[in-house]
Amino acid sequence: MPNKTKSSKSKKTGSSKGVKYVYFFGNGKADGNGKMKSLLGGKGANLAEMTKIRLPVPAGFTITTEVCTYYYDHNRTYPPSLDRQIDEAIAKLEHAMGRKFGDTSNPLLVAVRSGARDSMPGMMDTILNLGLNDRTVRALAERSKNERFAYDCYRRFLQMYGDVVMGVQKRPGEDHEPFEVVIEELKKELFPKDPHVSDTKLDAAALRTLTDRFRKLIRERTGKDFPEDPREQLKGAVGAVFGSWNNERAIVYRRKYNIPHEWGTAVNVQAMVFGNTGNNSGSGVSFTRDPATGEKVLYGEFLLNAQGEDVVAGVRTPEPVAKIQVQFPEVYRQLQDVRRTLEGHFKDMQDFEFTVEEGRLFMLQTRNGKRTGLAAVRIAVEMVREKLIKPDDAVRRIPADSLSQLLAPVFDSHARKTAEVIARGLPAGPGAATGQIYFQANEAEAAAHKGTKVLLVRVETSPEDIRGMLAAEGILTARGGVSSHAALVARQMGKVCVCGASDLQIDYATGTLTVRGKHYRKGDFLSIDGTTGEIFAGEVKTSPSDIVRVLIDKDIKGNDSPTYKLFAQLMQWADQRRKLEVRANADQPDQVEHSVAFGAQGVGLCRTEHMFFEGHRIDYVRQMILAENADERGRALAKLLPEQRSDFVGIFKALGGRPATIRFLDPPLHEFLPHEESAQRDLAEKLGISADRIARRVKELHEFNPMLGHRGCRLGIVYPEISEMQARAVFEAAAEVQSAGMKVRPEIMIPLVGFPKELELQLEVVHRVAAAVQKERNVKIAYLVGTMIEVPRACVVADEIAKSAQFFSFGTNDLTQTSLGMSRDDAGSFLPRYQEEEIVRQNPFAVLDQGGVGKLMETAVRLGRSVRKDIKLGICGEHGGDPDSVKFCHRLGLNYVSCSPFRLPVARLAAAQVALKD
Ligand code: PEP
Ligand code: MG
Repeated sequence: MPNKTKSSKSKKTGSSKGVKYVYFFGNGKADGNGKMKSLLGGKGANLAEMTKIRLPVPAGFTITTEVCTYYYDHNRTYPPSLDRQIDEAIAKLEHAMGRKFGDTSNPLLVAVRSGARDSMPGMMDTILNLGLNDRTVRALAERSKNERFAYDCYRRFLQMYGDVVMGVQKRPGEDHEPFEVVIEELKKELFPKDPHVSDTKLDAAALRTLTDRFRKLIRERTGKDFPEDPREQLKGAVGAVFGSWNNERAIVYRRKYNIPHEWGTAVNVQAMVFGNTGNNSGSGVSFTRDPATGEKVLYGEFLLNAQGEDVVAGVRTPEPVAKIQVQFPEVYRQLQDVRRTLEGHFKDMQDFEFTVEEGRLFMLQTRNGKRTGLAAVRIAVEMVREKLIKPDDAVRRIPADSLSQLLAPVFDSHARKTAEVIARGLPAGPGAATGQIYFQANEAEAAAHKGTKVLLVRVETSPEDIRGMLAAEGILTARGGVSSHAALVARQMGKVCVCGASDLQIDYATGTLTVRGKHYRKGDFLSIDGTTGEIFAGEVKTSPSDIVRVLIDKDIKGNDSPTYKLFAQLMQWADQRRKLEVRANADQPDQVEHSVAFGAQGVGLCRTEHMFFEGHRIDYVRQMILAENADERGRALAKLLPEQRSDFVGIFKALGGRPATIRFLDPPLHEFLPHEESAQRDLAEKLGISADRIARRVKELHEFNPMLGHRGCRLGIVYPEISEMQARAVFEAAAEVQSAGMKVRPEIMIPLVGFPKELELQLEVVHRVAAAVQKERNVKIAYLVGTMIEVPRACVVADEIAKSAQFFSFGTNDLTQTSLGMSRDDAGSFLPRYQEEEIVRQNPFAVLDQGGVGKLMETAVRLGRSVRKDIKLGICGEHGGDPDSVKFCHRLGLNYVSCSPFRLPVARLAAAQVALKD
């Protein structure tokens, strides 16, 4: 594994003397606090904070993220003073707990957990029950008067330590974890008739046998003995946690969520409390509000007689937390108090872990809970109403991208009624997904890569499956609860997820899923509803979200949809705060209408060539291209003119006075001609010309590199009559709509300009036609003419171009391809590798390359404004709907961003968020 962590803080040559590396918390006091997340990690900082606000937190200490960065900067070694600081912290901990490490009468046991600045659920390692060995386990048995419990802890410890620290893991070709195989074998010996009994059926003697076999397994697989000395155990565990910062899944996760590799993780060492002492104990994970819907209820799960890892790992399916009201009414009441305290203090929905040991509640962790897009909006808006936060906070905290989940489809209600429900699981990530089933993450990833819609179906998911989860439309698991790894990660990714569907029998070896006697094979279709937990056979049609129904389909009223009302409130707050305008990339009147409904303040890009494919138009376009002289071309263009004009009339009307940026013909002409021989013959017949003539023209138009060929303004320069027709269509439509009493604001945009003269030549055509039409129709039309900035040359001579351009719109799709010299159509073959190697952090065609393309934009803005102070500036490449790129555009001082209609809410929110930073 390459060394990914380079610290700027702890320099190689720097001295570590006097630096505090270990922060203690316990008994109501803490060295750190909740604000110190970059140093103590999220978990460590919040353990300190919870201690300070007197929540029942077991004592412990946090080893800082600086130690992690030092560790990687210094060839996996530690600062010299660390050992001493840890010793001091252990002494304090022993004192606080009244127990001693390695003591044979009252041993101290600890949990060792990772904790980065941002939570990375399940990506790094954890070790529980550390401090146990053959002697201390007996002490624990005696003190607790519970031999079964003691050996259960010991076997868990051996299992975790063996796996995480000593590397006893599945080898290639093995389907199951080696420790699990040992457990299954023992169960088979002890319960031959019922080998799938729950772990809780293993008694003390069985568990002791297991610990012997585990130690043997460790020796066999590693050639080393399991270390008995608790200090040595701790050293190994701390090293393993730091090491896990750079395991593959953690790296993949950081890449996906943009977490810098140089942050590093902290390590938390905390006194153990036990949820597995018997039926008066247990472990739970809860949310202060429902993370799927945002509803204000204590939501979560509790597993009786279990340690926390059992809940998160999803090996047993837990009970809803509400049920503990019956068994532990006092604990339930305390949990409700904790819920209020946490929200009142942290001012956000919290996801917390707790343990009940012999009826006593302990808090092990709290963090801002991951949530779906819907829950994010509901929680934020309702917290404003509850006066917990301000509208600014609500706008700031909702990840802009998550709004796209609110626009996600649900199953078509009719299709769903007739669909066969084959099983049910827990609704863990809302939305509707349908796809072909795959059981292995890598196969799912490969299939999705080929364009197949995939459902990833697993017994349970582990962090190793993250790539397959990313690629899948939805995730379905047979085991695990709503806070299992599968559920957490799916929700965060905005994936549809159903988990804990216990009727599913999955056989990885044969690639079959059996549900109540029916078999489904790899590649068969299933559909899942992550809002209800239902699993359907086959492909079920999906239908649009409430917001789409209110705004676009208009088949329900906004007032009848609580989701819509929340959305509308948030959008109102966002619109009040943002400075950037938002426009839409839309080419047809209906798209423009939808865009206006999603908040567009105009059209930022109308790609006129998209209009050329409808109905008869393509025939006229082809006639125009095949024309042998200007006369013939003129006749074809004359037939196109009324078609284009009627489109523009529709667009102007749908805009109701908002501006429309209309781009002249851009793609190379060969794109409009058929390339197959049979299609050429058909066209020849239709147009009454010879097939040879078409084939000849196709050959003439062939380009080796059409994206850099005869396209953009180069077309209008060689064939000015095309631009003339387009200009006439725009101005005649404008005259018509304006005469009908509606305002029109056409903005004509010339693509791919690099030389000022290119723009000037096209300007001459536009102004000439505008003057002619205004005279013919006796109207005055207010219009602008500007250019796209899509090639680096345009950026560096932007001052010269701005002399004649009234606006610039950055075509960052082309500007990225021309600046990087990377074909936007072919980069897919090597970009994934580029991302893995971190040559680029993100796909530059999706997220603007601020350091390169962004610099060119900056130059263009500066030069453009130096000549024309009030030049209107926008962006219309795909980046206009990406939150980070939108924020960058705000900082550049652009006037607007333009994006696809469904991204508009995302752009509006991102624009508000960046405005709040001013
Ligand atoms: C661009 O290049 O960014 C752009 C918007 O134009 P197109 O995608 O049509 O090339
Ligand atoms: Mg372009």
